[in-house]
Amino acid sequence: ERQQLGRLKRLSSRMASGEKIQLQANLELPAELPLIAQSGAAGIGLLRTEFLFINAEKLPDEAAQYEIYASVVAAMGSDPTTIRVLDWGGEKQSEALNRAGFSGDGEDNENPALGLRGIRLLLRYPALLETQFAAILRAAAKGPVQILLPMVTLASEIETAREIYERVARRLKRKGVGIGDPLPPLGAMIETPGAALTAEALARYVDFLAIGTNDLTMYTLATDRASAETASLYDPLHPAVLMMISGVVTAALHERKPVSLCGEIAGDPRITPLLIGLGLRSLSMTASAVPRVKQVVRSSRYEDCHMLARRILAETDGTEIRRLLEEFREA
Ligand code: PEP
Ligand code: MG
Repeated sequence: ERQQLGRLKRLSSRMASGEKIQLQANLELPAELPLIAQSGAAGIGLLRTEFLFINAEKLPDEAAQYEIYASVVAAMGSDPTTIRVLDWGGEKQSEALNRAGFSGDGEDNENPALGLRGIRLLLRYPALLETQFAAILRAAAKGPVQILLPMVTLASEIETAREIYERVARRLKRKGVGIGDPLPPLGAMIETPGAALTAEALARYVDFLAIGTNDLTMYTLATDRASAETASLYDPLHPAVLMMISGVVTAALHERKPVSLCGEIAGDPRITPLLIGLGLRSLSMTASAVPRVKQVVRSSRYEDCHMLARRILAETDGTEIRRLLEEFREA
C-alpha cells in the first residue's frame, strides 16, 4: 500500500469525471518541508507563521523572517506558497511578543478567543505587520507567493492591511529591493460566522478566500476547539458549519474569486467527496494526507459528489450525515 501511495505522487489530482482539484499542504514547522515534497502536494496552501514567534527569545526581525520564507518558497519551485501573517492572541501568548510590548489581551480578557486575535492584533501593532509583509514581499522574488490575513471579520480590516501592504511594497521598491512583481495576491481567512455570512462583500476586497474550518466550527458552534469537555460537540460536519462552507463557496463564485479550504477536514478522505460536492476545487491539508485524498479525488465523479452534498445539506442529524458519507465510500 505504501508503494501504491508513493506512486500516486506523480499522478494528477483529476477526478474520474475530469475536473482538476488542487491539493496543497499545510506547513506548521519548516521541518515538514521534506514531507511536503514527498507528498505530491501542489504547493503550500497554508504556511502558519506562528512557529517563528512561539518559543522565540526575541522577535524575528525582517532578515530572519526573510530567510525562512525565502527557503520555503525556493524549495517549492514553481508551486505557490501561501503565507499567513501571524495569527496570534487569544489563548496563544508569546513571551517574545509580550516583552517587545506587543501583548494581546489574553491575561485580562475572560474570553480570549473573542479578543485581540489575528488581524486585530496586527492592526493594533502595525509594526509587526510591516516587518512581516516586507519579509514576505522579498521572498516573493524567489517564486510564486500568496498572502493570507487571519481572523478577518470586517472589510475595513482588509482595506487597512492592504494600505500597509502597498506602502511597504512602495518603500522597498524605492530602496531598490527586489520584491514579487506583480505583488502577491492578498487573501482573507473565513473563520467566523460573521465573515462567512458576509463572504460575498469581503471577497470584493481580496484576491482569494481560504476557509478555516477549525475556527469556523469553534465559533459557529460556540465550542472550544481545544477543550476535552465539549469535544463531542465540536463537529465540523454539523449542518450549520456545512451551510457556512456552502455559502462561502457560492459567494466566492459570484465574485469570481478563488476559494480554498484549509481546516483539518481537508485532510480527511472520508469527507473529500462532500467538500468537492459543495463546490470546492482547492484543499490544503497536512502533508501526510495528500496521497489518500488524491486517491479519492481520482476515483470520484463530480456529479456523484454534487448529489451527495445536496443530500447531506438537507440533513439535520450528524449521525445520518456520517452514514451518508460511509455509504458513498462503500459504493
Ligand atoms: C482554521 O482555523 O481552520 C485554520 C486553518 O487555521 P488554524 O488552525 O491555524 O487556526
Ligand atoms: Mg484558524
